[in-house]
Amino acid sequence: MSDLTLRGLHKAFGDHVVLRGVDLSVKNGSLLALLGPSGSGKTTLLRTVCGFERASQGTIEIGGRQVESDEIYVRAEARRIGYVSQEGSLFPHLSVAENIVFGLPSQQRRARHRVDELLELVGLPLSCGDRPPHQLSGGQQQRVALARALAPSPSLVMLDEPFSSLDASLRAETRQAVADALAHAGATAVLVTHDQSEALSMGHEVAVLWDGRLIQIAAPDVLYRRPVSREVASFVGEAL
Ligand code: ADP
Repeated sequence: MSDLTLRGLHKAFGDHVVLRGVDLSVKNGSLLALLGPSGSGKTTLLRTVCGFERASQGTIEIGGRQVESDEIYVRAEARRIGYVSQEGSLFPHLSVAENIVFGLPSQQRRARHRVDELLELVGLPLSCGDRPPHQLSGGQQQRVALARALAPSPSLVMLDEPFSSLDASLRAETRQAVADALAHAGATAVLVTHDQSEALSMGHEVAVLWDGRLIQIAAPDVLYRRPVSREVASFVGEAL
């Protein structure tokens, strides 16, 4: 999978400036946790990288290829980014297997072995494939959403608060399953969260976004032991 590089990324909605010059690099095969309080611009950053929103200024590179700049705009579908939202948003009228292959070209949709491979990757029994999503727990549904996002072998995976709708008992187990699946797939991933313990436990690196600016990017232990500012200290200090 690819690495991701952002340079001087700005995003405004009319007069409302949300991202104020974000420079960021995510290494190939690593998971970056993007941590910040509500309203700091995390979802906007993720949606802009995906191509759902157009950047106001700056560049986005995926795997060394520029997908956005003043002159270039590669549309969302062509960026090959897997996306998992808060709710997972599975199609209720399709089986789990049909959900997983939904984004594949039609000739690949009948490949049951690919479904089985992906169910195994996310730690679900193969028998889940024939069931409707509502028969699965919330955590299992999020694993299916990840399997669906990984099915087309995307260059990057973006996860927007994927555990926030789960109750505490399911959350830890689902986090582990998702982390394992991403590692096995060799995925480069960005996980958006406002939960400090989630960011510190899952991120190879953690980036702290504050009012549209990245105020620190570091390995979890460095961030915890050597926060660069009072904001970071107060934010990550509560976690442990
Ligand atoms: P976070 O994910 O950190 O909670 P968001 O990226 O969702 O933050 O939102 C950051 C700011 O951008 C908020 O003030 C929000 O109201 C604003 N915003 C997000 N999307 C839009 C939009 N489509 N139009 C106008 N303002 C938006």
